[in-house]
Amino acid sequence: MTTKRLLMKGLTFFKTLEDLDAESKYLVHKAKEATQTSYAPYSKFHVGAALLLEDGTLVPGSNQENASYPLCMCAERVALYAAASQFPRKVIKKMAVVAHKKNHKELVNATSCGACRQVMSEFEMRQGSPIQVIMMENDQWAICSSVSVLLPMGFDGGSLKG
Ligand SMILES: [Zn+2]
Repeated sequence: MTTKRLLMKGLTFFKTLEDLDAESKYLVHKAKEATQTSYAPYSKFHVGAALLLEDGTLVPGSNQENASYPLCMCAERVALYAAASQFPRKVIKKMAVVAHKKNHKELVNATSCGACRQVMSEFEMRQGSPIQVIMMENDQWAICSSVSVLLPMGFDGGSLKG
């Protein structure tokens, strides 16, 4: 019996973390580690992200909240902007995003918000190669082959560019 399920093109689901390949499992582990630096006194939802760059560099990120709610920043964007500023022009191969509630070690379902998908999409366009994304959805692990799977027809600036 296989634990792998293909829901739609570019999106594969796995029943348990053990079913993932070693690199993806490692990245999930690093994303979980990153939740330790989360600052989430308001939502009490601790999110961690981990990026794997083409040369093996790992870039973690965690959500950072603020009493002025609109200023809160998601773990994904913290990690992506850190990668862009610290490792410019290095290709991002893969990213994992995980979350748990305060004082709970168990990971819960958490998929990236639309704003993060938009930012991830532009990173993918900039580097000209797909970024794999690993997230937990419906108590299963999802591996997306590209951000374009998560955000079809994403905004690309259109005529604003050039
Ligand atoms: Zn987000």
